[in-house]
Amino acid sequence: RYSSCSPKVCIVGGGPAGFYTAQHLIKARPDVTVDIYERLPVPFGLVRFGVAPDHPEVKNVINTFTQTARHERCSFYGNVNVGKDLSVTELQEAYHAVVLSYGAEGNRRMGVPGEDLSGVYSAKDFVGWYNGLPSCRELGPDLSCETAVILGQGNVALDVARVLLSPIDLLKKTDITQPALEVLEESRVRRVLIVGRRGPTQIAGTVKEVREMVNLPNTRPDMLASDFEGVKEALKDLPSPGNEHERLEKASRVWGLRFYRSPVEILADPERSSRTAGIRLAVNKLEGSGEGARAVLTGEMEDVSCGLIISSIGYKSLSIDPSVPFDSHRAIVPNNMGRIQEAPGLYCSGWLKTGPTGVIATTLNNSFDTARSVLEDMDSGTLNTSAAKPGSQSINALLEKRGVKPVTFSEWEKIDSEEVRRGAAIGKPREKLLTVEEMLQVAGK
Ligand code: FAD
Repeated sequence: RYSSCSPKVCIVGGGPAGFYTAQHLIKARPDVTVDIYERLPVPFGLVRFGVAPDHPEVKNVINTFTQTARHERCSFYGNVNVGKDLSVTELQEAYHAVVLSYGAEGNRRMGVPGEDLSGVYSAKDFVGWYNGLPSCRELGPDLSCETAVILGQGNVALDVARVLLSPIDLLKKTDITQPALEVLEESRVRRVLIVGRRGPTQIAGTVKEVREMVNLPNTRPDMLASDFEGVKEALKDLPSPGNEHERLEKASRVWGLRFYRSPVEILADPERSSRTAGIRLAVNKLEGSGEGARAVLTGEMEDVSCGLIISSIGYKSLSIDPSVPFDSHRAIVPNNMGRIQEAPGLYCSGWLKTGPTGVIATTLNNSFDTARSVLEDMDSGTLNTSAAKPGSQSINALLEKRGVKPVTFSEWEKIDSEEVRRGAAIGKPREKLLTVEEMLQVAGK
């Protein structure tokens, strides 16, 4: 249909960055074809496996991604793990341009003693578990304790706190997985402390989520007045007890933000030494003010008893192919407006480009910027598109030889229908398939 000289672009990673980059390329030029290679049989990255189940409106972006995927000049190939099934060099041989947008699948560690005790989880795994990420299926978090401590006060930390404390009847109507729902139903967690290094004025980005916590039925906030000294402004979102006295009195679950605290050590249970029984926190004070304020140690320490610790201090991108430049200190691919440094024809977008911060709208903007760089390079001739490239034809031959079975977008739509059907039977928007094997089977592979 298209001349063999039409520019062929390949995208690695089928999350928001991949789809937004593809969308912009396809819209901007009528001759570009785009192929998206995704590690999992299912698309949409963190929109499926990260965004909280009780935030269904955020997932509406899936409609736009679906339109892009169904476009005649876009193809989706799920179940293809780049770096393992294919090398980036092979993709570069087959395409005029390769855009890496495989996100941030690693986890930042706290780097404190006791981090590996049982009862300690990363938010990344915990979120992956309740959202049905196949690699987290067997996490089996132990929710038999009364107090949980979450380290970090970002959006993800507040998502986790909400899922831990939400009335089960609210969660039952979401797409949270059934096994997670069963564990949460039996949960004995009644008190969640959300701990941050700095003070109330530094959590501006999470006011919406704090308000959701305030409005969560059957829960009440429990703050330390001393944390709020001199920061009246930050208190305005918290209900004053006089307001809703009765509701708060009856609440059986408690949550609290704890400020100016950093983890020093995860404490082992004296009777079961492989398990955690608490955390030692260093008390900080702030130097400077506003966003730039720095937490510095006061030398004071504080122990908190708890049986569950979830560290939510950030995701981290990983290198998937040694041929691609990677800044391991900053955990991103070094780039200039999405052009990977010293690697002509290679681009990046999304969290791999910027680091793991920002919402989907931020990812949209930086992915459109990368697409603009690709288009500029095509127009200027920096990217040589005059020689024909084989695109998916040669890649599919390689995959076949290696026994890899790509899942197309229409095959994903079979998985989608099956999930929606299973969900409808129990009053949920969808019930996710939990293993790659089952996904492939339903896709007809
Ligand atoms: P990702 O979404 O991670 O997509 C990367 C894709 O690449 C994945 O599909 C992955 O499987 C694939 N991949 C990885 N390795 C390979 C490989 N080797 N080969 C092929 N493919 C590969 N934003 C909001 O606006 N609202 C929210 O409510 C919200 N909630 C969030 C909750 C959590 C827990 C998290 C972590 C983030 C949340 N965000 C939210 C932010 C949003 O999810 C990100 O901005 C966005 O997903 C980043 O897009 P991305 O495509 O760069 O990465």
